Amino acid sequence: MLGMVGAGQLARMTHQSVIGLAVQLRVLGGGPIDSAAQVTPDAVVGSWDDLEQLEAFASGCDVVTFDHELVDPRLLATLAERGHVLRPGPAAQRYAQDKLHQRQQLAAAGFPVPDHRAVTSRDDLLGFGDAVGWPVVAKAVRGGYDGRGVWMLPDADAAQRLWDETSAAGSELLVEEHVPIVRELAVAVVRRPAGEQRTYAVTETVQSDGICVELVVPAPVPAEVAAEATALAERVVRHIDGVGVVALELFQTADSLVVNELALRPHNSVHWTIEGARTSQFQNHARAVLDLPLGDTALTAPAVATVNVLGPADGSDPRVRLPAALEVPGATVHLYGKAARPGRKLGHVTTVGDDPTETRLRARRAADLLTGEGDQR
Ligand code: ADP
Repeated sequence: MLGMVGAGQLARMTHQSVIGLAVQLRVLGGGPIDSAAQVTPDAVVGSWDDLEQLEAFASGCDVVTFDHELVDPRLLATLAERGHVLRPGPAAQRYAQDKLHQRQQLAAAGFPVPDHRAVTSRDDLLGFGDAVGWPVVAKAVRGGYDGRGVWMLPDADAAQRLWDETSAAGSELLVEEHVPIVRELAVAVVRRPAGEQRTYAVTETVQSDGICVELVVPAPVPAEVAAEATALAERVVRHIDGVGVVALELFQTADSLVVNELALRPHNSVHWTIEGARTSQFQNHARAVLDLPLGDTALTAPAVATVNVLGPADGSDPRVRLPAALEVPGATVHLYGKAARPGRKLGHVTTVGDDPTETRLRARRAADLLTGEGDQR
């Protein structure tokens, strides 16, 4: 029995991916409306914040994996000490749970990361901006996602305001240089416990307001940049002893690559692998954590594109516009069954093809039809 803590869309798509292997997935979620709980017969309603409930869940599973990085590290450590098999393990998960730890450890190991500083006082924050030059970027050490917990600080006044807010709320911060990004890339590696690993094609992640809106595969970068990104990701994943899918978000600058983020779970930046790779990230994650042979990560077509379906501003549910989107040739629609809210990730659309521009436009068209933006065109 494979257990997944969390019952969001990642667990839902993991469940979908292992049906053909007759692997039973049990998910731990908040309630029956959770994305994965809607489709998985074995959904346990419970809290991953509570040791007793977490341990009861883990006791029924051979291996426990995760669809988010929010489980308290102390609870993870206790479960591991008590003999539950957690993949990835607590030490590896810490890289995704604690941005400061991630920056510091990767920097110490010689990996390229943005110049950064821990913020324990107002002077740390303002002094860093004065030293490296404004703007700078402040980040919550824990719990940020989709641009939440990331603040672009143009000047000392903005930094002062942020300090007043966050110190009052007691949240821990780090500050880092504002990287002159040319392009954002992601590389996903999947790794078994003994170290066998495979890597997916380099992805360009197109961001809008801190949210990833589109994936372009293969990333339109020179072959040497793709090779460097791949090698960097593979070295990082070995270094942190990741198990399962590890997705690295990288910044490409004019002359280098910098590691921005890591996720130790299936990740939005490689949702394209369901149609665009011979084995999806979801099935490969399950195979890796169950210590089964990994599947081929090669592309299924010369060009792959994914467009995220974000909740429209009017709060309407993309499901009502499904028929129009399904008219778009070769567009595969994934809706996560989540309640519609403006800006919320509700699904994605993937297309594969021979021509990158045509492939991308088709995915965009289907996604726009789902959100209603296609109506006006
Ligand atoms: P999240 O955990 O919310 O995904 P990220 O650290 O990935 O947060 O930041 C979200 C986005 O903010 C990035 O995709 C990038 O566009 C921008 N960003 C983050 N850090 C920096 C930085 N140091 N310099 C420039 N832009 C940044």
